[in-house]
Amino acid sequence: MSALPHPTKSRTEKVIRDHDKYVVPSYGRTPVVFVSGEGRRLTDADGKTYLDFGGGIAVNCLGHSHPALARAIARQARKLMHISNLYYHEAQSRLARELVRLMAPGKVFFCNSGAEANEALYKLARVAANAGANAGLERKYGIITARDSFHGRTMAGIAATGQDKIKAGFEPVTPGFVHVPFNDLEAVERAITPQTAAVLIEGIQGEIGVIPASPEYLLGLRRLCDRHKILLMIDAVQCGFWRTGRFQSYETILEGHPDADFFLPDAVSMAKSLGGGFPIGCVWIHKKYQDSFQPGMHGTTYGGNPLACAAALAVLKTVEKENLSAHIREQGASLLAKLRGFIGHGPVTAVRGHGFMIGIELNTEAKPFIQALREQGLIVIPSGTHRIRLLPAYNTTREEIDEALTILGKLLSTSAIS
Ligand SMILES: *Cc1c(COP(=O)(O)O)cnc(C)c1O
Repeated sequence: MSALPHPTKSRTEKVIRDHDKYVVPSYGRTPVVFVSGEGRRLTDADGKTYLDFGGGIAVNCLGHSHPALARAIARQARKLMHISNLYYHEAQSRLARELVRLMAPGKVFFCNSGAEANEALYKLARVAANAGANAGLERKYGIITARDSFHGRTMAGIAATGQDKIKAGFEPVTPGFVHVPFNDLEAVERAITPQTAAVLIEGIQGEIGVIPASPEYLLGLRRLCDRHKILLMIDAVQCGFWRTGRFQSYETILEGHPDADFFLPDAVSMAKSLGGGFPIGCVWIHKKYQDSFQPGMHGTTYGGNPLACAAALAVLKTVEKENLSAHIREQGASLLAKLRGFIGHGPVTAVRGHGFMIGIELNTEAKPFIQALREQGLIVIPSGTHRIRLLPAYNTTREEIDEALTILGKLLSTSAIS
């Protein structure tokens, strides 16, 4: 055995070499090859372990290789992996019922990713805003979204996304989308025309810092959309599904507000944490619009297949059984408070977020920090060029949070990097 020269090292190199030769270079990748994960720990091909505070970008909400999730997937795979949406199966009905219970009266459409869930929102807006009492001479198709938003990489997704760099090279983009500054109610009001069908925002903007909608903005948007008979849609792909300690981020944001009960969107897209690592997305649609998609109007082959739904049901059950939402609220608040202690020392200028969705703003490029943190064994996610995002698994322990804080503290309270 000892005669073999660094077998793990060559494994890393071989994976990266083949990858760069055969996989399209559409991502800026870090040269790490992960081979396994357990709980909040990841192991790379060189045998180095990391504490994962990126969670696969808000996906691995139960950590890695969670036994209940792995068991549910294996059991379902032996029973029925896929059937077509031309038929019924139990897991889809059960998952839809659970999601409606957690949301509000309405119905669910299933798909496979966040971008696809948002596609359903765009189509819903065009159909629902022109139906029933809303039917008028003027056909509505416009969707107002926020600057610095992120809604996915499909053609309509990049049109919806309020960042020029996402659209660059792919113009002309799908028509009908306009962007206004986030958290600016008057800007939305000014942008509404007779063609406007909907407003779409993230409850907490994720890709360019962690920027929560304000309570007044959410409540004002609801009133504004009601007044103009247009849909209010929330992209909860990243901030939803208990990420903030409540099922939806707007519940967290509006907590304790006297008008909180008055707020309910017309449609909400979810994905990422929904499957805990298994690809699945969905859209919850308010009962007022729940039958907008009639047979033949929308669909996807894999959407809500038995395997994906079994995975999501296992995640949902685990989060509730282990009371992880309370854990997120408690530990998230404590993590946020401790991180705020770094403000003003070293490069940290601001810390924002709710629950287990936290952004750290730096006065310098985030990339070298993220690399240094990784070398110290902590995985975090960039957010724009000058921000770091923490998106830990919901079951991250207090000890693991302290461990991450120690690593972060060493680096962020000094100017060691800059
Ligand atoms: C990740 C993300 C998407 C896109 O989801 P995909 O599964 O990558 O298609 C859309 N909206 C938001 C807010 C996201 O964070």
